[in-house]
Amino acid sequence: PHRGLFYCLSKLKVNVSGDIGCYTLGATAPLCAMDSTICMGASISALHGFNKALGADAEKKSVAVIGDSTFMHSGMTGLVNIAYNATNSTVIILDNSITGMTGHQQNPTTGKNLKGDPAAAVNLEDLCHAIGIKSVRVVDPYHMAETEAVIKEELAKEEPSVIISRRPCALLKYVKHKPALHCDQDKCVGCKQCLKIGCPAISMKDGKSHVDRTLCVGCDVCKQMCAFDAFEREEKEG
Ligand code: SF4
Ligand code: SF4
Repeated sequence: PHRGLFYCLSKLKVNVSGDIGCYTLGATAPLCAMDSTICMGASISALHGFNKALGADAEKKSVAVIGDSTFMHSGMTGLVNIAYNATNSTVIILDNSITGMTGHQQNPTTGKNLKGDPAAAVNLEDLCHAIGIKSVRVVDPYHMAETEAVIKEELAKEEPSVIISRRPCALLKYVKHKPALHCDQDKCVGCKQCLKIGCPAISMKDGKSHVDRTLCVGCDVCKQMCAFDAFEREEKEG
């Protein structure tokens, strides 16, 4: 669900310290929104090191991105280091409410154990506050203008901060999708701006954008990319 956030990071030309998970695909074209990925859990510590070494110039244009599961597994110690040493670093936790890359295993934030039984759930906002991060913001990556604005605001702050990009994985059974979009062929001018989001449902045919309704989850991110208002919602469930 984090394509919109990666598009914003790419647009803002932010240096992104990446991590291991489904979101590592944000490094690939067309998003190209990840500059380094060292090993699992290393994104936050790497950002801390880069910012310590490079100073204020780096702090204002660098973030770490890490999934909710990886953050719980081996990322939070890096955030403790950032809070303890008070570096002006911005960490983005990509919370898709599951462990995506390895096949939808539960994790300590989901409220279920690996058997699917009820378990204690870690509240990411409370955990970040307890670690010592005062500025903790939550965004919905499907809302790109808000996401971009919050990234800019947190990068500008003179303190450690965390942005939680929260939207459950579209493949989770309980997630309800809005009806699919279709592209009005009369409105589309073929500018290809919508392709920059990297959605597998969108392709170009005869110079116009087309949506494969069997793949579309109705997230509206492409609609926010189009200056010609060419995307419209279908009436029936996709
Ligand atoms: S952004 Fe809009 S006008 Fe441009 S190709 Fe996509 S649908 Fe067509
Ligand atoms: S085509 Fe569907 S899934 Fe893809 S960005 Fe647009 S609304 Fe989202």
